[in-house]
Amino acid sequence: MCLNGYLHSVRKAFGITLLNKTRTAPEIWEAALGELQVQVSRSNFRTWFERTTGLSREENTFVIGVPNTFVAEYLDRNQRSLIEKALAGLTSPEVQVEFRVNGRYHRACVDDGARFTSPSGNGSGSLNPRYVFDSFVEGTSNQLARSAALAVAREPGKTYNPLFIYGGVGLGKTHLLHAIGHMAEDRHMKVLCVSAEKFTNEYVTAIRDRKMEAFHQKYRSAGMLLVDDIQFINGKEQTEETFFHTFNELHNANQQIAITSDRPPRDFSSLAERLRSRFEWGLIVDIQSPEFETRMAILQKKAKEKQVSVPNDVLEFVARQELQNIRELEGSLNRVIALARLFHREPDVPLAAKALENLSGKSPVATAPASQLILNAVAECFELSPDRILSQQRDKETSEARRVAMYLVRQETGLPLAKIGQEMGGRDAAAVAKACQKVSADISSNRYLKRKITDILQNINKN
Ligand code: ADP
Ligand code: MG
Repeated sequence: MCLNGYLHSVRKAFGITLLNKTRTAPEIWEAALGELQVQVSRSNFRTWFERTTGLSREENTFVIGVPNTFVAEYLDRNQRSLIEKALAGLTSPEVQVEFRVNGRYHRACVDDGARFTSPSGNGSGSLNPRYVFDSFVEGTSNQLARSAALAVAREPGKTYNPLFIYGGVGLGKTHLLHAIGHMAEDRHMKVLCVSAEKFTNEYVTAIRDRKMEAFHQKYRSAGMLLVDDIQFINGKEQTEETFFHTFNELHNANQQIAITSDRPPRDFSSLAERLRSRFEWGLIVDIQSPEFETRMAILQKKAKEKQVSVPNDVLEFVARQELQNIRELEGSLNRVIALARLFHREPDVPLAAKALENLSGKSPVATAPASQLILNAVAECFELSPDRILSQQRDKETSEARRVAMYLVRQETGLPLAKIGQEMGGRDAAAVAKACQKVSADISSNRYLKRKITDILQNINKN
């Protein structure tokens, strides 16, 4: 017999069950919380259990009121058996729990009309339209952050305030922040989304132009304030001070605040202690680097968004790279797609390998493999070495090959002129423009040149 079953029979033997029958659901839950408190960590308890209530008990079902769906889902998935064990001793061994989002919280959200304004004219405009929940791929590395963001977006000011999301570069912090903003805007909330840098600049300008009142008014009137990359204000005392007051005003008025950062509050070297402690009021969640499965899922989603069919083995090849960063991962996929387009062929693994071969270098150039290939093909056709094309030699043959190489790189990759100049032996944009013009003009009259260019393109496509 398990411990709880045993306790139950002991209680029953001593008539304690009878006593429990007269206990109300809130009282039973209070007692269960007392047990749970010693079984889970303090922070765990504070985050998940503190604002729960015992709502009702019928037969073997015990209903627990939770502040939001996020907590409901979390408790359901992760703490159900622990909770049922705690309740079994107080109710019946077969007790099953149900979580219900507290009606009170829902009503508060709907009734709070003062916080809502017409969407017209207040759209922040600063939200990236691509950064929505739908396009955010969930994985173990970002699950908690995503769920917390969703909870905050659904019930602003009611769940975690502030929500503090931290993690390394390119892991989706801004994406989640904007996703919160979009959802809130869809619900007609006035959202103000700024980078901490913008906040600082606006503050400095307001002081300079003596427009502090307008500055305060702007931030005070936000129904929801989203601040990206808060680490930027670390050590900027005046800005910290202003942010502190803005934070307090909004927080006191129950307006939702969400903040992103590249590090947790405790790692801020010089952030004023009181501001740091404010950040710790709500929920602090981190985003980790995605593991392989998430990287695959993200690539599949991105390929779909771009409406390009990329076979799974190619996506896997891209995902297998040890990239810690989703931005780079997306960049890799873009390279593969760009190269496939350039060669007019379906992406396959050898092509992906070619597209990504320069990636390990310090400063990968988006289309470096493409321009390299073009250069090689031109060199072969003109029977010159690539180095010679890149050199300063000005003989007729080399100059023509160089012009053709520039022209083809421009045509095929669309790189900016200055970039092409750089790659073609450090020439300036004007030289590239001139070369491209000359080749375009010559092609129509010079059949020999036209033939050569066609041959080169065919060679590239064979690769
Ligand atoms: P951060 O702000 O953490 O530096 P971003 O939010 O700018 O990172 O994300 C970088 C890129 O990666 C963006 O294009 C974003 O859409 C994409 N991205 C990050 N995480 C995800 C994810 N889980 N699902 C889909 N795209 C993601
Ligand atoms: Mg960012």
